[in-house]
Amino acid sequence: TLAGKTAVITGSNSGIGLGIAQEMAKAGANVVLNSFTDRDEDHAIAKDLAAEHGIEARYIAADMSKAEDCRGLIEQAGACDILINNAGIQHVAPVDEFPTEKWDAIIAINLTSAFHTTAVALPMMRKAGWGRVINIASAHGLTASPYKSAYVAAKHGIVGLTKTVALETAQDPITCNAICPGYVLTPLVEAQIPDTMKEYDMSREDVIKNVMLTRQPSKEFATVEQLGGTAVFLASNAAAQITGTTLSVDGGWTAL
Ligand code: NAD
Repeated sequence: TLAGKTAVITGSNSGIGLGIAQEMAKAGANVVLNSFTDRDEDHAIAKDLAAEHGIEARYIAADMSKAEDCRGLIEQAGACDILINNAGIQHVAPVDEFPTEKWDAIIAINLTSAFHTTAVALPMMRKAGWGRVINIASAHGLTASPYKSAYVAAKHGIVGLTKTVALETAQDPITCNAICPGYVLTPLVEAQIPDTMKEYDMSREDVIKNVMLTRQPSKEFATVEQLGGTAVFLASNAAAQITGTTLSVDGGWTAL
């Protein structure tokens, strides 16, 4: 079990991050939840997780588009044995029409935030004598799709960061890996459906089956529970020699 370990999960009041927080808590880890909002309902998620699993849970508001917030999150957490860089956003547009502010925000949140959190967490992990860095990349960290230039660039970038951090920690009891999910039906994906319906002049059902899952041979979405389980595995002792690699949870997407 992960009892006594603290997992810090960026962007975890929704979707995959919340699913990972739930599975980490189920495995006995204390969890630090995060997003950029500071609402009662955010703190309530932490309270509920603590009550349900008998662990310690906190919610810390910090904006992962800002360097000082990223670093402050890890400092405020106080302990960070398992760092899960998950916060992410998406914007879909042809590269010649891609808004610069969207490009900058995607690179900042999906890639640069992981540099800042990792930079603060590694010395804490070395001091604790154990650590796991788990980056939530994407099938788009390994392959591309049109209209997702910033996202694909950021996700390929985080795979590169993953390999570099793995080499720099290779002789420490620390591993660094990336999970590459295919499509998971979370609010991030839900938000892309209307635009894609317009782009291809298709119904919601057709977008799901013939656009989103067209490259996912299983024809099924991956679930947030499965992503959480994968993160718990990477945090386990069985995964102690797995470092600097990607683990696809994509129904066969990248086998195509
Ligand atoms: P989501 O929108 O449900 O969750 C994203 C999380 O990031 C939310 O908690 C949100 O509040 C948080 N967030 C956004 N901007 C932030 C900011 N500035 N500061 C702090 N937190 C911020 O989306 P999701 O699908 O759960 O995505 C989570 C991660 O998984 C992302 O990195 C995404 O790229 C990746 N991913 C998702 C899919 C998928 O199909 N859903 C596939 C591959 C990879």
